[in-house]
Amino acid sequence: MDGTGLAQEPPPATDLRPEIPHPARIYDYFLGGKDNFPADRAAAEQIIAIAPGIPEAAKANRAFLQRAVRFVAEQGVDQFLDIGTGIPTEGNTHEVAQQVDPQVRVVYVDNDPIVLAHARALMAGPSHGRTLALQADLRDPAAILADQQVREALDFDRPIALMLIAVLHFIDEEQDPYGIVKTLLDALAPGSFLIMSHGTGDFGDPAQTEAGKEVYRRAAAQATPRPRAQIERFLEGLELVEPGLVVIPQWRPESAGAADVWAPGYAVVARKR
Ligand code: SAH
Repeated sequence: MDGTGLAQEPPPATDLRPEIPHPARIYDYFLGGKDNFPADRAAAEQIIAIAPGIPEAAKANRAFLQRAVRFVAEQGVDQFLDIGTGIPTEGNTHEVAQQVDPQVRVVYVDNDPIVLAHARALMAGPSHGRTLALQADLRDPAAILADQQVREALDFDRPIALMLIAVLHFIDEEQDPYGIVKTLLDALAPGSFLIMSHGTGDFGDPAQTEAGKEVYRRAAAQATPRPRAQIERFLEGLELVEPGLVVIPQWRPESAGAADVWAPGYAVVARKR
């Protein structure tokens, strides 16, 4: 125990494999972060050469995360399961949610050890509240749900906000992303929320999308941008919060200018009945 009331698991053995580009560090570079290695920066620059709007799109995705977390916390949800957390940056889930309710519980899950190392360092500070970080893989949702620390931190009899933001496009079709999301949603109580964003090739030319995928083929995770119809499959049986499934910056934008940013991805907040 560490004074938060939640147990922390011992730190995992850390192999950062700096020579292989990692999605979390590539994304960190897009956001202007410093937690990345030369191989990550090279991959990120290759993607920027293909699609110069990508760093702004990453920032728009991050801004969506913050708007959506605030919205869901304002609906009275005080538990968040944020899978594919990313390297901590400004306005992390627990910080945004705590502004609405200081008592919120947040469980961060990521499979990249660098994310966990940074998340734990961040949470050594005084203001992290009731937050937990766990190294686990979205491809094994049953293990996440069965994890004893997750069970201690979150009450599955009450609504939970499941966050899958810019992570499902790292799960290819053979790994059954739809089944993964269903397994997670089935474990949640009525009134729970899904907060999701997902990359798409719907707005670029196919050669651009293919070139982007090629960069990730040499990285630690493959990219699978999906067309709208496939992304809608994740939402079957859920009640979509207005404005539904939209281009990322168009989800309840705070200004007209912010809504017009180019972003190759969809965003949605949906509620489990
Ligand atoms: N959700 C954050 C970060 C997105 S970057 C945001 O939107 O701002 C994608 C993150 O997903 C990275 O941190 C990467 O390490 C993580 N990730 C990729 N594949 C994963 C998997 N199979 N299991 C868990 N996390 C994964």
